[in-house]
Amino acid sequence: MDVSKHYWIDVAVQTPAHSQIGGLLSYRCAFEVQPGHLVRVPLGQRELLGVVWAISDSAPAGMPEKAVRDAAGVLEGLAPLDSAWRQLVQFSAQYYQRSLGEVALSALPPQLRDLSSEQLARRLKKQNTERTVHTQTGPALSEEQQAVLAQMTSAPGPFLLFGSTGSGKTEVYLQAVERMLQADPQAQALLMVPEINLTPQLEERVQARFGAEAVVSMHSGMTPAQRLKGWLAAHAGHARIVLGTRMAIFASMPHLKLIVVDEEHDPSYKQQEGARYSARDLAVYRGKLQNAQVLLASATPSLESWHHSRPAAEGGRYLRLHMPSRIGTGLLPKVRRVDMNHQAKKAVLSAPLVAALQERVERGEQCMLLLNRRGYAPVLHCADCGWKSECKHCSAFRVFHKIDRTLRCHHCGMTERVPRACPACGNADIAPIGRGTEQLEEHLGELLAHVKRPDGTPIRIARIDADTTRLKGALESQLAQVHSGEVDILVGTQMIAKGHDFRRITLVAAINPDTALFSSDFRAPERLFALLMQAAGRAGRDARQSASSEMWVQTFHPTHPLFEALKKHDYPAFAASELAERTAADLPPISHQALLRADARSQDVAQGLLNAARETLEAQLSADPATAELVMQVSLYPAVPMSMQRVADVERAQMLLESPHRMALQKVLWHLHGVLHQLRSAPEHKGVIRWLVDVDPQAI
Ligand code: ADP
Ligand code: ZN
Ligand code: ZN
Repeated sequence: MDVSKHYWIDVAVQTPAHSQIGGLLSYRCAFEVQPGHLVRVPLGQRELLGVVWAISDSAPAGMPEKAVRDAAGVLEGLAPLDSAWRQLVQFSAQYYQRSLGEVALSALPPQLRDLSSEQLARRLKKQNTERTVHTQTGPALSEEQQAVLAQMTSAPGPFLLFGSTGSGKTEVYLQAVERMLQADPQAQALLMVPEINLTPQLEERVQARFGAEAVVSMHSGMTPAQRLKGWLAAHAGHARIVLGTRMAIFASMPHLKLIVVDEEHDPSYKQQEGARYSARDLAVYRGKLQNAQVLLASATPSLESWHHSRPAAEGGRYLRLHMPSRIGTGLLPKVRRVDMNHQAKKAVLSAPLVAALQERVERGEQCMLLLNRRGYAPVLHCADCGWKSECKHCSAFRVFHKIDRTLRCHHCGMTERVPRACPACGNADIAPIGRGTEQLEEHLGELLAHVKRPDGTPIRIARIDADTTRLKGALESQLAQVHSGEVDILVGTQMIAKGHDFRRITLVAAINPDTALFSSDFRAPERLFALLMQAAGRAGRDARQSASSEMWVQTFHPTHPLFEALKKHDYPAFAASELAERTAADLPPISHQALLRADARSQDVAQGLLNAARETLEAQLSADPATAELVMQVSLYPAVPMSMQRVADVERAQMLLESPHRMALQKVLWHLHGVLHQLRSAPEHKGVIRWLVDVDPQAI
């Protein structure tokens, strides 16, 4: 064999978690490849798909040449993943503390792994044609929309579009795409949404504007074949617009020129397993990398983005753009607070709200009731002995679902028939405490049974939540009923508050939003405010009805500043007061956080690993003058149980790391990684099931 024809490649492959942080596997290669090519390589007994990361003419240092195995082959016909894509993956792996191979491979469509070059060639022949973009003209822009687009041409960004619900943000995205396509016939745009199933309307609007051919979707609800097809079209540059959820941030788009992150505040942009990346934050990074414009948009921006878009003179890095008015003569709904202290004790719905609902339905208008808890009641209770419907496996109560008379744990899934009598004392009189959407729907039905629609037919109440939408297509058909006016009152969880362009709803009510005011999670008020503003945004979207539209809030704390700000639709005031509190308490976005988590059969074992890691790390860092400063810059807190302490018989513990310096925190996390690898093999930590790091966690 002519050895001079060989060279060596470093390949990113998916290996078990934590085993290869930053690492790549080396192979000998006898065929021609470039960085970014997909290759098949042997690992143990298996053959895996990997991404060529680097090429060199010499064997890897410290490794006998014979020990290096041969790469099996390259996936032919597929252009290499470009350097921007590889850099994005590399950065994500490093920043979120996962292996390069894991991030790279999970960013590719799963079907690619099992495809031979011949099969791939067949797929490509289907679709290897330029796709035409037909741009339909959009409506004439409002002054605010024009101003925003003008600013986008005169500054590099990133931009934060702070625009009211119904101010025409989507139209701005569409026209920004149109301009981009005019300026550069090859250009590609990425439109990201938090949950694609909730926004079929956006898909329709984008396709109607640019033609179905030019648009591909990317989200987890697609079949593997659909995902592969869309991915290939984007990779080849044929798909001009990719519409997707957070995973789409890793789409290979060689001509990417514009990234839009719609509802950028939405927590769904943060991945909650594997590499726990924030697609919103990566959008900003990727924009810089590929010289693409980045537009984050929301009516209630995340405090992070709001803070980043403060004036440049104060250190702001994003440019804030404003669209305060609704399109046309549309007004935002009037916010009414109902003081529940003055209502009948235990009343679920206040008398004035019931009257208002009746009046609206009789006029032929729609109403929406928001209650962020599904099921019939969150807990069953025995008044005699104090028994409650706890889950045996989790630190949570099992929820009573009346429809099939079950007690269900929403965390581990454990489901049982409702007992006939108290399992502890035999008392037959066990009762639900609190209420969920199922009970609210039932209760409304009783209260408003006599109410008729304008045509004399009886009132129709419907419910949309995770329980009613389990089956494929259920959500779509239920939404269609709301849109067509078949439903008079819609009851639901936060699912119904997001994004929908309901044209007939004139009244929205939040039934019991108070719990979030006193949560231990410092982000709870931010989430609540966003949810209520979003919910309010569902009312009066038809300008003709907007003047009489209302957002009701039933609360025991009507003078709470959060509700005061809501009443004025004053997000900036709310954000200012929240940011002042965060600043005082040194919380994000002023500081940066990371969580180290450990799972075990007991809290002691889980916390044991975390506390040992902290002590070892602090000793290690202090001992070396080069790292001693890090100990001062990063606070490591003692291990504590997670707020949801036990799930499916697994005890969960966490340790918080906090620092005003992002880089210092990153460095500490890297050291921590090494420490954990050492500790993990010690006998006293054998009981740890897993550990993981969550950088910029969304809930602590
Ligand atoms: P947002 O995304 O801010 O909630 P949309 O872009 O969905 O707002 O706009 C709200 C409604 O106004 C939509 O029905 C949209 O078609 C319409 N609209 C948006 N911009 C214009 C415009 N310039 N002229 C007329 N109608 C518009
Ligand atoms: Zn459980
Ligand atoms: Zn009992």
